Amino acid sequence: MDESTDGRGLTRWAWVEIDSSAIAYNLRKARNMAGRGGQVMAVVKADAYGHGAEQVSRIALKAGADRLAVAMVAEGVKLRSVGIAAPILCLAEPPITSIPLLVDNRITPTVDTVDFAIALGEAADARGQVAPYHLAINTGMNRIGVMPVDAVPFLRAIDFHRGIQLEGVFTHFATADCPEEWDFRIQLRRFNETIDAIRAAGFNPGIVHAASSPATIRYPEARFDMVRYGISMYGLHSSDVTRSLIELRPAMSVKARVSFVKTPATGEGVSYGMHYRTPGGIQIATLPLGYGDGMARALSGRCHVLINGMRCNQVGNVCMDQMMVEIPGNSPLHPHGPVEIGDEAVIIGRQGDGEIMLDEHADLLGTVTHEVAIHFGQRLQRFYV
Ligand SMILES: *Cc1c(COP(=O)(O)O)cnc(C)c1O
Repeated sequence: MDESTDGRGLTRWAWVEIDSSAIAYNLRKARNMAGRGGQVMAVVKADAYGHGAEQVSRIALKAGADRLAVAMVAEGVKLRSVGIAAPILCLAEPPITSIPLLVDNRITPTVDTVDFAIALGEAADARGQVAPYHLAINTGMNRIGVMPVDAVPFLRAIDFHRGIQLEGVFTHFATADCPEEWDFRIQLRRFNETIDAIRAAGFNPGIVHAASSPATIRYPEARFDMVRYGISMYGLHSSDVTRSLIELRPAMSVKARVSFVKTPATGEGVSYGMHYRTPGGIQIATLPLGYGDGMARALSGRCHVLINGMRCNQVGNVCMDQMMVEIPGNSPLHPHGPVEIGDEAVIIGRQGDGEIMLDEHADLLGTVTHEVAIHFGQRLQRFYV
């Protein structure tokens, strides 16, 4: 859900704030890295990693992105339906049955099977068009793409078709954000050899691209003609290896207001299962967001929330729509209590001198920031600030 006007907390005391200037700032860094003549593809799949695909696309294009990338045809169609005209690449070959929708909406597919390429050519030709496509090369991730040795035979098999036009050739690195560089080097070498072979066979590979965020930041030699910029545009790191190499501004904050407060007697349990028992004399504040909003239940009793400048322990099981927080006693150490209904809580973001980053949740959950951001972006209302 998106809201452009400012109505934070009007109907629900939990929401997401997206800092538009942070996205523009991060994107401009990619622009600089891509260099003169190099293109930037803003990756807005999965509703722009939970940040809102339409809004992020507009911000990124304004800040200098040349193209957009999605994971599914429907994501591209949605962007077209709100009037976004920039080139859109679908990052994997979709089902053959989606071709009419794809062609009608000028969404450029990734191709790695001959059947798809021919069907695309037929559909485009029937409309009097020539459909651009990008060829994916499998240099080692073993997810999608033709094998390096098959690239030239593949092009020879389909290039006769007047309904299709090779617009780009790309690969994807499996270990761009891993400390060890060995596998990255092997993939890069295989990719360079494949591009050389394509050129030697007389084909123009068009836009050559390989680098997602971490490869863009770490390896200038992997930037080629275009970089595919996802996680870093949102101001997040996919692992620690890029942290010291670039300064980014996280765009997403998650906020709430205290919806209820009580001070249960010593030994009283809190939430489903009563795994937490209060020592007494401590305020327990309720926040109206839960695992239905992306606050992973696996974080129960393990994470923190900022309220009135205090770092508070989340206690008891996270519920679907609510969770509870322990308010430190009003002592010289914590002079900010007690809290009241309506006080602002920061689940992700800054409050006073305190900051809780998405990385903190990702580390506790043993996952990447991408996944955490996507979940917060689903049910909570988003406000662009
Ligand atoms: C998701 C994706 C990207 C973006 O990766 P980030 O690490 O978020 O920058 C780039 N390329 C491909 C093929 C992808 O699937």
